[in-house]
Amino acid sequence: MKDIFTVLGYDIGGTKLGIGLVRSDGRLLGQARIENKDTRPEEILPQMAESGRRLIAAAGLDANGIRAVGISAPCPADIPNGVLTAPTNNPHWRNVPVKQYLAAQFGVEAYFDNDANAGVLAEWFFGAGRGAQNLVYLTMSSGIGGGIIANGRLVQGASYHAGEIGHMVLTPDGPVCSCGLRGCYEAYCGGIAVARRVQRELAGQIEHPIVKFAGGKLADIDLIAIEKAVRAGNSYAAALWDEFCRRNAQAYGMLMNILNPEKIILGTIAWAAGELFMEPVLKYVPHFAWRETYEACEIVPSQLRREIGCYAGAAVAFNQLHEGGEFGF
Ligand SMILES: [Zn+2]
Repeated sequence: MKDIFTVLGYDIGGTKLGIGLVRSDGRLLGQARIENKDTRPEEILPQMAESGRRLIAAAGLDANGIRAVGISAPCPADIPNGVLTAPTNNPHWRNVPVKQYLAAQFGVEAYFDNDANAGVLAEWFFGAGRGAQNLVYLTMSSGIGGGIIANGRLVQGASYHAGEIGHMVLTPDGPVCSCGLRGCYEAYCGGIAVARRVQRELAGQIEHPIVKFAGGKLADIDLIAIEKAVRAGNSYAAALWDEFCRRNAQAYGMLMNILNPEKIILGTIAWAAGELFMEPVLKYVPHFAWRETYEACEIVPSQLRREIGCYAGAAVAFNQLHEGGEFGF
């Protein structure tokens, strides 16, 4: 570990924006949240800067006390230029140069990447991926995003689209995905895709346990309502869950044979559902991977869990400083 320094990180989500002041030894010096639902950039950008300044002051640092700013952003985005182009959850944010704005506000270099890459970096530096040289992180919530570390480096790809694991096609002519392709992994296992399928299949069945666990509203069905129905012993939910776990195992097996990772780290659903998810997944994975790659890989839930938003933005900056030789871990 070289000299200790501090980075200010922003994790821009569709409904919430997380801010974390993180030291290079992994200590979280401060955190804040800003509501970001249906907002406009002209009101939120100044709040982001102000909130960051408050965290820096509260930690006892002076205005020059941070080494860099890091930003974790939703796709699609112009990664090298640090511009939010057209985030799907936020229609007012179009072509917003967040990186340039924050660099000017704090007078330091700002670094920008997509949220799944930021996620794998956060787990690598501060969570379940510490010490590994080859790992994959999957976001596993409403959609499926992926970040890859191979041979000790973040994989960006030729046009910054490496890690679009949710859009690997598992079956030609499968269900239509939000991206326009058919049979994507996300079309089978993304939270929104699964909920839509169940809403379609249970239309009119307001007495169904899944609908009841969703508060009686078909439109509110989500993976949590489905998980509760599985635990309650409903056979439709159990069959659906088994298929869901098998499709996830298929994707993990593909990743094992392509990348031969030491760890696959899973976001939300894996730690929220626990053994109910992990047990069938681990049963099915050997059907989709060679023994050599399966035995070398551990599939684990995220260690940072809900806290990942405090570290994700900062991790983007730490990675750039790491690649530049300024940060060892
Ligand atoms: Zn897709």
